[in-house]
Amino acid sequence: MSLFPLHMRFALGVAAVALLVAAVPEAGASSEVSAIRHWTAPDHTRIVVDLTSESQYSTRTLTSPDRVVVLVVGGEVGRASRSTPVEDGIVNRVRLNQLNSGAQVVVDLAKAAAYSVFPLKPYREKPHRIVIDVFRADVSESLPIERTESSGGPRVVVIDPGHGGEDPGTLGNGKLTEKNVVLDISNRFAEALRARGGYEVHLTRTGDYFVRLAKRKKIAHERGGDIFISVHANSAPNRKASGSEVFFVSPRGESDQASRELADRENACDMVGGVSPDADSDVLSILVDLKMSDNVDKSSDLASFASQELRASGTSACVVKQAGFVVLKSLAMPSVLVEVGFLTNNDDVKKLSRSDYRGQYATALADAVDAYFDRYAPVVSSPSGDHRVAPGETLWSIARRHGISVGELRELNGLAEDATIQVDQILSVARS
Ligand SMILES: [Zn+2]
Repeated sequence: MSLFPLHMRFALGVAAVALLVAAVPEAGASSEVSAIRHWTAPDHTRIVVDLTSESQYSTRTLTSPDRVVVLVVGGEVGRASRSTPVEDGIVNRVRLNQLNSGAQVVVDLAKAAAYSVFPLKPYREKPHRIVIDVFRADVSESLPIERTESSGGPRVVVIDPGHGGEDPGTLGNGKLTEKNVVLDISNRFAEALRARGGYEVHLTRTGDYFVRLAKRKKIAHERGGDIFISVHANSAPNRKASGSEVFFVSPRGESDQASRELADRENACDMVGGVSPDADSDVLSILVDLKMSDNVDKSSDLASFASQELRASGTSACVVKQAGFVVLKSLAMPSVLVEVGFLTNNDDVKKLSRSDYRGQYATALADAVDAYFDRYAPVVSSPSGDHRVAPGETLWSIARRHGISVGELRELNGLAEDATIQVDQILSVARS
């Protein structure tokens, strides 16, 4: 299109028309709403609207009853259901109406709530999408704390089931989905540790919903994790590839090309699951000083223990490798990523389909964590002196680090219940 010979004002007019035409990809072909899906996380509900092509949309809020209305301009109601019940206390249901102006998506809210709407470009098998996140106002963003009492101070283990919600992870031969397999193994792993006592276990996700990578790290830091174990499942073009792999991050970089490609695939989950363009403002705040060499050694040991337990128990052939997984990078604690098997391998799929095998796998991981803490008992320093608040720290993690309660920490510093702390703030952690 050449606008140069035209008068400027006219050119602008042509440009405006062109923009509208560009929104409808081919003459006569309008975007169709092909599916509406939803996921409930502890702090928000995500609704994903699949479109057959890119489309402009507008958003508005209506009250009595409270609704979020997204109009897909010029869109058609396609195969998607006209009414999708959600009923999770945040969203009642999602309705789809055909208007002359386009396809109207109505999100019926349980009550007025903050929300965010953003588009996602196609990625792999995912089409153009519009994401509507509705946030729950009455719970904190964090997951509930579950404690196991013990005498020597709990060992805090953060388990990170990969993927979830909009991001299924690897689909392999189609019988199993990575996000479901790894959540089940993670839950069993957490149960096994809790049953042994002396552990405080946190999961970065507890259901089928998407959690971005930065949030996973944030949870780990907020919970004051001693170790972090991310659980995933593998895939490979070679369907004979099988068994487990345990990865840790090292400055030496990837073990091999396959490890590099695997890290690329796992790191792409924010693109599949969908991260709003303004969502990553807190990434910097979770970057903490790494005691890098110390953590690399411990991570390497943790990986070796996991590999040994999986092999010794006859659960899975296992190798230890290194690769640059985003979810492990910049974590201020020893961390590994376990690939529990290949969903592209029939034998692995058969095993991973069995609940007794998943239980056995979880037991082997719990044994590895036991072995790790036999070598590295968590250090709880005696309460003394001052503490400078580092990025990512919470009152809870600071109190734990210094062996005092959050109540004591508040009292020592005259902090009210709702007080917040700032990076570089100096807190007294000494009992008088
Ligand atoms: Zn994965």
